[in-house]
Amino acid sequence: MFDTLKEECGLFGIYSKTLEAQKLTMYGLFAMQHRGQESAGMASSDGFGVSFFKDTGLVSNVFNDERLKKLKGHITIGHVRYSNKRESGAINAQPLTMRHSKGDLALAHNGSLINTVSLKKMLEKQGSIFQTSNETEVILHLIARSKEENIEESIIDALSQIKGAYSILFLTNEKLIAVRDPLGMRPLVIGKIQNDYVIASETPAFDLIGAEYIREVNPGEMVIIDSTGMRTKQIFESNRTAKCIFEMFYFGRPDSLLFGRNVHLTRKEIGKELAREHKVDADIVIGVPDSGISAALGYAEESGIPYDIGIMRNHYVGRTFIEPTQLDRELGVKKKLSPIVEVINNKRVVVVDDSIVRGTTSRKIIKLLKKAGAKEVYMLVSSPAVVSPCYYGVDIPTRQELIGATHSLEETRKQILADYLGYISVEGLHKSVKAASNEFCDACFTRKYPIEFSQSDIHYEEDNDE
Ligand code: SF4
Repeated sequence: MFDTLKEECGLFGIYSKTLEAQKLTMYGLFAMQHRGQESAGMASSDGFGVSFFKDTGLVSNVFNDERLKKLKGHITIGHVRYSNKRESGAINAQPLTMRHSKGDLALAHNGSLINTVSLKKMLEKQGSIFQTSNETEVILHLIARSKEENIEESIIDALSQIKGAYSILFLTNEKLIAVRDPLGMRPLVIGKIQNDYVIASETPAFDLIGAEYIREVNPGEMVIIDSTGMRTKQIFESNRTAKCIFEMFYFGRPDSLLFGRNVHLTRKEIGKELAREHKVDADIVIGVPDSGISAALGYAEESGIPYDIGIMRNHYVGRTFIEPTQLDRELGVKKKLSPIVEVINNKRVVVVDDSIVRGTTSRKIIKLLKKAGAKEVYMLVSSPAVVSPCYYGVDIPTRQELIGATHSLEETRKQILADYLGYISVEGLHKSVKAASNEFCDACFTRKYPIEFSQSDIHYEEDNDE
């Protein structure tokens, strides 16, 4: 499954008086591009003021030498994002910026908040005027209204009023500040390049620019980087964490060290567990590119069934905004995936995919494989059945659209045209990720949401119906 769920954002920040902060941020964002392709933005401070540029498009479309030169300063934060319907367009791109009595401020956020509807109503009643429909803007208003005198305390004051998933980079005139929510739902890591510090959503950003990984920003921790170096404060405490387990098998890059684990090796472990839970008699194992490949390798290794490359992905088909015609609909999944007939023909094929959401993509893939001559297709899934939406930053559709919530296993198997269908169990997934108890969020599989929310604050149900 390669085109159904969207992560909301990727972050990169740097404080450096000797290196090219803007160029390194651009490269850091390149490495985070898989976390969001709708818009990209950057804000810089030279100690006196903040300049910024953001627009819709990929990092390579939004930034060029000319635009980078207009951003001045040694502190820079950058952001790439995917957005939901209500928050699309350049105006909602990040970083968001504001000028207030405590100085300039820019903010880049990954995650999703669950009490901004009521907070926004309260702020508007008290006179706040919102410039965007981006829920993150609530944080800026709370900071501006805070009675705390310095910016760090104002940020803490604002964040203590919000609930949800957030990894955030703040840029002030003099500081780069990073904060991760108390449950650590979205990733955020610290690196060092020469004598300077960098922060990113995932470690491939460090690998690309030659920075060394130091550690994760701890859940509930604030990291402050300024002319005196780096210092940290534990600003929120929690007796559990709720790292998003979806990041491990779906979003993270295979070369990423995510939540302290290598993504590729973790996915291989998930594939091995899948093979222990679901034994089938088949001729070859293939993976749906890209994120099904590592789990397929693990499945093959554990089961002894040979692995092969059975599906090719066209990496050059990006998001299109043209109205789909009959021809587009007919081409469907073939625009992105094509089977290698010589590998598939006359074989009993295990195909490993990372998840099934609506079931429509799985059905198309299985049709492709059967058309390519597969005798039988066994669909094995490296996540449990998705049965509930996410309110913390992953764009999972409504419950009514989730095939795992509305159909039994056998009904789903028939619907997607598979000869066998097996999901990894929730316990098997936690075991292969080597999760400690209460370490990961798995609410979209179990409906056990780690942060309570009120229905009036949730406006996802009607929005996530694309
Ligand atoms: S509900 Fe699912 S997608 Fe959302 S944070 Fe939890 S595990 Fe991740």
